[in-house]
Amino acid sequence: MIAHVSRWVLPVDGPPIDDGAALVEHGRIQALGPADKILAGFPGAVVDHGQGAILPGLVNCHTHLEFSALAGQVSPQSRWEDWLEAALAGFAALGVEEIESGIRRGIAQAWETGTALLGEVSNHGLSWPALQQARLAYHLFYECLGFNVLSLGDLGEAFPFFALPEVEDTAWISAAAHAPYSVSPALFRAVREWNARGQRPQTVHLSESWAEAAFLAEGDRFFRDLLRRRGRWVPDFRPPSQTPAAYLGSLGFLGPRTLAVHGVWLNTPDRRLLADSRTWLILCPRANAFTGAGQAPVSELIEAGVPLALGTDSLAGNWDLNLFGEMRWLRENFPDYPGDLWLRLGTLNGARALGREADFGTLSPGKQAALGFIPLGGKPDFWIDLYQSGAAGEFRWICESGWGEGQGPEVPALPPSPTPNPQK
Ligand SMILES: [Zn+2]
Repeated sequence: MIAHVSRWVLPVDGPPIDDGAALVEHGRIQALGPADKILAGFPGAVVDHGQGAILPGLVNCHTHLEFSALAGQVSPQSRWEDWLEAALAGFAALGVEEIESGIRRGIAQAWETGTALLGEVSNHGLSWPALQQARLAYHLFYECLGFNVLSLGDLGEAFPFFALPEVEDTAWISAAAHAPYSVSPALFRAVREWNARGQRPQTVHLSESWAEAAFLAEGDRFFRDLLRRRGRWVPDFRPPSQTPAAYLGSLGFLGPRTLAVHGVWLNTPDRRLLADSRTWLILCPRANAFTGAGQAPVSELIEAGVPLALGTDSLAGNWDLNLFGEMRWLRENFPDYPGDLWLRLGTLNGARALGREADFGTLSPGKQAALGFIPLGGKPDFWIDLYQSGAAGEFRWICESGWGEGQGPEVPALPPSPTPNPQK
């Protein structure tokens, strides 16, 4: 048993502990509290990390590792539609090896900056083998697109990935629906039913751009042209004349196992709908700034009681995969909220959203010893100090081994050859 001691210990589900200690054995947290109590009569090794904070590893609920090779190649945009076109063109020019090495770099960056659990949205299945070998834990959302899928029985009919027995047997794999403008009602239903069979979480991009709201309201041109170019247009499509959130509600796609991502353009009834249905909203504030999408109404979402967690989104649409950057952004832009709120969103709430709070999200006895340390310089605002240090890459792990091990099924890594998503 080892005792880790530092000036502060941040359990997340309780107030910071001054001069705290965490006892770790067999990769699990055994006890937590003030160092003088925890260390009284303690016979094991004591590691004093000094002036800084011990905290749990972060939970990033939304990324696309397969876009990591586009890091630095797509510039920030003021118009989201321009960003989307640039990202799609950039991705189409990538070779499989570039994509795969990008995935490995993305995982390494997320791990090194403090991510313990990653919610990954995959279009090609290419990130799964790398995640099975990663030290961080993951949940893989295999993303389905198909605006023109007018009828569908089982999801595996259109997406062979879901017909693989090792996929069915892996608890941390789900089906994802890309977005209300790229997924038909039949496909939404098939995704929902596949996930519901295994009580799995599901995810969907929601109200990221104004163009999405306009498309569902009145069939706006941008998405009609995009879907036509990609051969997915349905000539007799009639817009539902609903907001994206109301539309997802009418399809039965909202609820406590749904992670809706972005939520930039949500009106008052939309926010109430998400709160009442206990749908998670994953805030990606720096990605929204990068892509020109706008910003989610954070204060109004909090006021409405919408369950919130955090994501970075991809390296095609953010500067890095360091989730402390999101916390810093939120602390700086919403200084009136308690400073620890953003850490809770980036740890405990994320773990709850992904159904992994038994292992991650807080420093609690019994959970995985996913402990890190951030040195602090003693700035007057403790939380700004923490988030800035984390965003500057000062985080380091103090546990001894990864806990993502054992997350792969007992089969060779997939896919043996690239199997591009047929609907993309
Ligand atoms: Zn995304």
